[in-house]
Amino acid sequence: MINWKRITLTSTYLSWFFVTSAQRIDVALYPVYTGNDLGLTYSPERSSFRIYAPTAKQVQLLLYTEGSGGSPLTTLELNKAEQGTWTTSLTGDRVGIFYTFRANIDGKWMAEVPDPYATCVGVNGKRAMIVNLEATNPSGWKQDRSPAFAHATDAILYELHVRDASIHASSGIQKKGKFIGLTESKTKSPQGLSTGLDHLKELGITHVHLLPSYDYNSVDESKPEVPQFNWGYDPLNYNVPEGSYATNAKDGVTRIREFKQLIKTFHENGLRIVMDVVYNHTALTQDSYFNQLVPGYYYRQTNDGGFSNGTACGNETASERQMMRKFMLESLKYWVEEYHVDGFRFDLMGVHDIETMNIISEELHKIKPDILLYGEGWTAGPVQLSEDKQALKKNAARLTDIAVFSDDIRDGIKGSVFDHAERGFASGLAGMEETIKFGVVAACQHPQLDYTKIKYAKAPFATQPHHTVTYCECHDNHVLWDKLAISMPDAPEEDRMNMHQLALSIVLTSQGISFLHAGTEFLRSKKGVENSYNAPDSINAIDWSLKEKNIKVFNYVKALIKMRKEHPAFRMTDAKQLSTNIQFDKTSTPGVVSYGINGAALGDSWKKIWVGYNGSAGQQTVTLPAGNWQVFAKDNEVQKGKTKKVSVLKPYSCTILYQQ
Ligand code: CA
Repeated sequence: MINWKRITLTSTYLSWFFVTSAQRIDVALYPVYTGNDLGLTYSPERSSFRIYAPTAKQVQLLLYTEGSGGSPLTTLELNKAEQGTWTTSLTGDRVGIFYTFRANIDGKWMAEVPDPYATCVGVNGKRAMIVNLEATNPSGWKQDRSPAFAHATDAILYELHVRDASIHASSGIQKKGKFIGLTESKTKSPQGLSTGLDHLKELGITHVHLLPSYDYNSVDESKPEVPQFNWGYDPLNYNVPEGSYATNAKDGVTRIREFKQLIKTFHENGLRIVMDVVYNHTALTQDSYFNQLVPGYYYRQTNDGGFSNGTACGNETASERQMMRKFMLESLKYWVEEYHVDGFRFDLMGVHDIETMNIISEELHKIKPDILLYGEGWTAGPVQLSEDKQALKKNAARLTDIAVFSDDIRDGIKGSVFDHAERGFASGLAGMEETIKFGVVAACQHPQLDYTKIKYAKAPFATQPHHTVTYCECHDNHVLWDKLAISMPDAPEEDRMNMHQLALSIVLTSQGISFLHAGTEFLRSKKGVENSYNAPDSINAIDWSLKEKNIKVFNYVKALIKMRKEHPAFRMTDAKQLSTNIQFDKTSTPGVVSYGINGAALGDSWKKIWVGYNGSAGQQTVTLPAGNWQVFAKDNEVQKGKTKKVSVLKPYSCTILYQQ
């Protein structure tokens, strides 16, 4: 699956280079460092450093008083140590000193870089800083605990960009565009409705999935007064928060403390946090921090010696090589242990190898048994790794407790993300019924499904419902409301609102892990811009005034979330439950999918549940299974207690009935 934002980036970052034959040695021969002290080890008495640079002939440490500019205070030689590493140390308490390394390789001095393991950096991440992490903790950090969370399928994820959340004037938030803007409470839109943190609580989602919040390259942190925007899929320092989201990007400590403050506040308010991580490539290629210390090692090469580019961003990392695998694992553990992060979303996970992903899953679950892991089961181009080793959607069954996004349900609901005019089930396209059923059963095995009719996958790719992320839109491509406008240009707004609500109804009633894109609950638009990765705030910012304008949609989505949380029948934990307790109605009406759930067998207070989706433009009358049905929702509205004409489904609508 091509990810178009990266195609756009390619021209910027693509820089082929040919390594010399001396560098094209078998990387399997490079030593593997087995210790756990790469980078800085700090104490008030001593700061010790260990750098992995097995091909270097000489390595130097340069110390500075500032994070940018000026000359080095001093330059120290590192000593060659075991397993390809180099070490040195400074006595005394050196907190606040900035530093870089440079390696001499093949008789040439490489560029000065912070070590890839740096946990604290100065402005724009060009130099690392000696830090006492204890001193970065906000008050009460030791008592910080993640909210209770039982099963992966209980998750209702909300994908949010830090800047988008608060930068619009209507947010009522003081610290706009900053991590701590999301710690403010009692913030209101001009119409008096809750925004930011209070809105997230009111909506009822379980996890906030933040777009990249590690230190990325594209925004100039030295110019906070200049409006700048980027999604952040261009990693620079993997183990440091992004500086432009901090109130001060220069001092090193502020970004750490403020990101921790955000996480602590989320936890106190019942919200878990997922980080979007991009280990599949680095923003810089030849000049990257990895490549300046160990040229060629961390990346896959093409047969002619150039950088392989399966990410369409100029390079692809080599997770199957021991020191890259170790880097990913230690980086992820660091975010869990130091920042109390509750989950990760792996960008272009298909670039990584299955073995690495399973080691990561095993190790992270040891630290945090209820951690949530999921990723994109695709790449953005051909990678230098055989397909049977890639963490792709089609290999999802071989991933241990790692979910993949279902592009089948995403595009089945609203039409292909690549064919802008294509409609989907919710916008009146017949023939998508089987794909919607595939979404309902979270891409698992179900005896009633005809898998030959599924949009992309022709077989169940998930063995368990928690292997599937159920969604219909994300930051990539058009948001749902724009997609409906583009693919249904002649449809009245009221119809498109119904389509939008039907689409979200399918997401929130289907099995698997639910995923919503921020603002969809009040019809967020990006003004038709598809690839908004560097678009201005006028396109990306969430306009909180829409909440009142589309309060009907908001109230409906909020009620569906509450229903999903109260009724385990929508959150089955095992594929066997799902194949025996979901019964699809035999209907041949195009654009209609309906099914019953045996709630009694699942311990649900609703003994029987019936869900009907009408994606067609006409009113449809269905035959309901026997019994006295109560209404929960009808015609895309919660209408509790209504009992008449429940078998008549309005165009583009969802109906949810139950028997107690
Ligand atoms: Ca940055």
